[in-house]
Amino acid sequence: MAEPQMLQPSTVREAVRALAARGAVAMAGATDLIPAMRKGEIRPRILVNLKGIAGIRGVKRTRRGIWIGALTRVADLLDDPVIAQNLPLLAEVAAEFASPQIRNLATIGGNLCNAAPSADLALPLLVFDATAEVRGRSGKREIATSDFFRGVNRTALRRGEILTGLLVPRPRVRTGAAHLKLGVRKAMDLAFVGIAAAVQVSSDGKKCRRARVALGSVAPTPRRAAKAEAVLEGQVVTSQLIDEAAEAAVSAARPVSDLRASADYRREMTRVLTGRALREAFRRAPQERPR
Ligand SMILES: Cc1cc2nc3c(=O)[nH]c(=O)nc-3n(C[C@H](O)[C@H](O)[C@H](O)COP(=O)(O)OP(=O)(O)OC[C@H]3O[C@@H](n4cnc5c(N)ncnc54)[C@H](O)[C@@H]3O)c2cc1C
Repeated sequence: MAEPQMLQPSTVREAVRALAARGAVAMAGATDLIPAMRKGEIRPRILVNLKGIAGIRGVKRTRRGIWIGALTRVADLLDDPVIAQNLPLLAEVAAEFASPQIRNLATIGGNLCNAAPSADLALPLLVFDATAEVRGRSGKREIATSDFFRGVNRTALRRGEILTGLLVPRPRVRTGAAHLKLGVRKAMDLAFVGIAAAVQVSSDGKKCRRARVALGSVAPTPRRAAKAEAVLEGQVVTSQLIDEAAEAAVSAARPVSDLRASADYRREMTRVLTGRALREAFRRAPQERPR
């Protein structure tokens, strides 16, 4: 098979034009792409290398929240001051992602667009209600991350569209969040269950105002567990309520058995880890001190 032609656009407009060609595929850090090409899973005719495009990398505060460019590397999330101050959960997830070498190449956009069931960065973005910013030949559009994933390695991107950034609303006051990832080994491993939770508590810390739970590796796509969220919202937080929410999260799981774990084990770990992640998120939710 012939080597693919490599194009190096320097603007989003050029990239979008190049991607309209038959057999053209976008490339960022190539940590998913190269292994997939080696296995023969994809055979691009043209690789459109996005890395030379200025303006879709880095993190900044905007009026609508925190903007993270699609080409931002996982390593960049570890020590970015805006992330540390506003979205520390993203830095925590990045710290457990692959190895330093992979983190130096892998991008947040590539992680989402590859759309693996185990995409780690999808989980904090789902619990913070992030929106994907997309550009194509017909212009810009936005897609809620909860609508972005359509199946294993399938996204809502149309042909020729690229992800340019993620917009994450600044978390509300009294919000706590946590992430847990279970793999065979700690480093260099894809999760066989990943859970993220974000909760907002009332000013006295007793009630759950808002809850978000996201599951990874237990369904064809990373996804929210809406029933678990509904169990919590508006209720006084008790240990029993958290157990009920953890049980409800299992109904959103559609796990498969594979070499890494059985479906039953994944279901059970979804329950256990959701309970733990929620407890940690409530523990982290800052309370207002009584005057
Ligand atoms: C050893 C190893 C360990 C790993 N560990 C983890 C882990 O712990 N957690 C985890 O989640 N993943 C892990 N991965 C998977 C991978 O590193 C990530 O998914 C990574 O974030 C992909 O980003 P990338 O920039 O390398 O994407 P690429 O490989 O360049 O692209 C991936 C896909 O997304 C498309 N794409 C990329 N950017 C865009 C864009 N801006 N717009 C449109 N389409 C785009 C490409 O066309 C391709 O289909 C691991 C991979 C390896 C090889």
